[in-house]
Amino acid sequence: MNRDFLKDLGIEANNSGAFDGKWLPTKAGQHPIRSPIDGSLIANVMAGDVDDYWRCSKAAQAAFLRWREVPPPKRGDYVRRMGDAFRAKKEQLGKLITLEGGKIVQEGLGEVQECIDIADFAVGLSRQLYGLTIASERPQHHMRETWHPLGCVGVITAFNFPMAVWAWNTMLALVCGDPCLWKPSHRTPLCAIALTKLAAEVLGPEWSALVPMILGHDSKVGHAMVGDPNMVLISATGSTRMGKNIGPRVAERFGRSLLELGGNNAIVVLADADLALATRAILFGAVGTAGQRCTSTRRLLIEKPIYDDLVGRLIKAYGQCKVGDPSDGKTLVGPLIDQDAGKTFDEAIATIRQQGGEILCGGKRAKVPAALQGGAYVEPTIVRAHAGMAIVKEETFAPILYAIPVKDADEALHLNNDVPQGLSSSIFTSNVREAERFLSAAGSDCGIANVNIGTSGAEIGGAFGGDKETGGGRESGSDCWKIYMRRQTSTVNWGKALPLAQGIHFGD
Ligand code: NAD
Repeated sequence: MNRDFLKDLGIEANNSGAFDGKWLPTKAGQHPIRSPIDGSLIANVMAGDVDDYWRCSKAAQAAFLRWREVPPPKRGDYVRRMGDAFRAKKEQLGKLITLEGGKIVQEGLGEVQECIDIADFAVGLSRQLYGLTIASERPQHHMRETWHPLGCVGVITAFNFPMAVWAWNTMLALVCGDPCLWKPSHRTPLCAIALTKLAAEVLGPEWSALVPMILGHDSKVGHAMVGDPNMVLISATGSTRMGKNIGPRVAERFGRSLLELGGNNAIVVLADADLALATRAILFGAVGTAGQRCTSTRRLLIEKPIYDDLVGRLIKAYGQCKVGDPSDGKTLVGPLIDQDAGKTFDEAIATIRQQGGEILCGGKRAKVPAALQGGAYVEPTIVRAHAGMAIVKEETFAPILYAIPVKDADEALHLNNDVPQGLSSSIFTSNVREAERFLSAAGSDCGIANVNIGTSGAEIGGAFGGDKETGGGRESGSDCWKIYMRRQTSTVNWGKALPLAQGIHFGD
């Protein structure tokens, strides 16, 4: 892949990994960033240390005290120009996601489009941070509810959405009046450096401290961020293990947290489903991003009469999926993020066999040309599984799909919910009663529940996230902006008397 676009994004051979409004001379160890495509070196990033962290935190806090007084539509104007900057560099940013994160071209571009879309959404929102007026029980009084800026937001992101998750948080937080200090994944810091450069250029020297970032060790820089009282909200995306670690620490200091953690998403396919539609949705959900989306389809709950038909169609479709170089427009499945992820896949396959699963297709490392041998390429895999296999309840971040036969819709719904995670779910059926039941209070317990579309590829307009071990956070569209703001209830007495609420008389 031609790498000339890196210059255009300001990525150099050696890069500072900390920005407090200007790039800091970091010294906490050099990180060589290798491409998952072939293991080749892309660039080096010098990590920041805890002192660098505090510089970033202080600069963000100082910027907050000024930014909170800027009228929201004026804040929105900066975000509008950020969206324009992402638009102008969409192709280069998409290529960087492919090079550093291993996503295929279409998915890299799609992720940049998400950054643009959420910027547009936030611009509109900057004129709609509506509060309420509330009827007071007392004469000549009125009540209102106002939303004020909250404070600094610490944004921790996972490797698999190296740009979009920052944009989801930062575009909204900026119009709400909050700076965002970003700690990206150590596997994709170049995406963070490129976006920070674009955002800082739009903000100019006066406001660039609104978008600080730092690459640093989880147990040092990450630890400092999670304990930092300036970070009023910690928005963290990643594994459930990470959420279990940081959630209690944020709660201990009464900080807010927005946790977006692991998923284990199922598609229910009933006997009356449109199988052609289901096959395409399952393919994208299970194989897209090489199974490395939090919303990837990991379990299929198929009514017995159509099990063989559907699985046969899927095996045929899987056979036509090209695995290989993600920068080649014909490729549908790129590499896993690194060799450790490849080992996790191998171990999962061994466990599946031990637990009685039958590999119906895939299950091995994919054959790729010699030039790609440095990457971890695996065959998209379908397993005939049963609900009693312990591994089915775990999230394995790889393209492994458990196809489980079920007796009926009741059993399917029970198994859909019978996992610790609660992110995304779908049902394929033409029976309106079953579809509505799946979406009802007694239906799927996931934050996302779909009918006749897959589990992944959510639009930014809705609230995104899930419950149980997925963490309970919601971000992106709908009214998710409220988490970035402080709610204030005010009562104003414009009369001459002082009536008390609940009709209480006190000394009169
Ligand atoms: P990960 O948990 O290894 O790392 C995520 C981020 O957390 C990284 O930036 C990492 O440096 C940081 N981190 C880890 N421990 C920390 C600590 N103690 N203190 C501070 N920071 C810490 O996850 P990953 O492998 O990068 O990403 C894959 C995981 O993310 C999967 O489980 C996937 O489901 C999940 N994910 C969830 C969503 C969602 O919206 N629910 C979206 C994307 C990814």
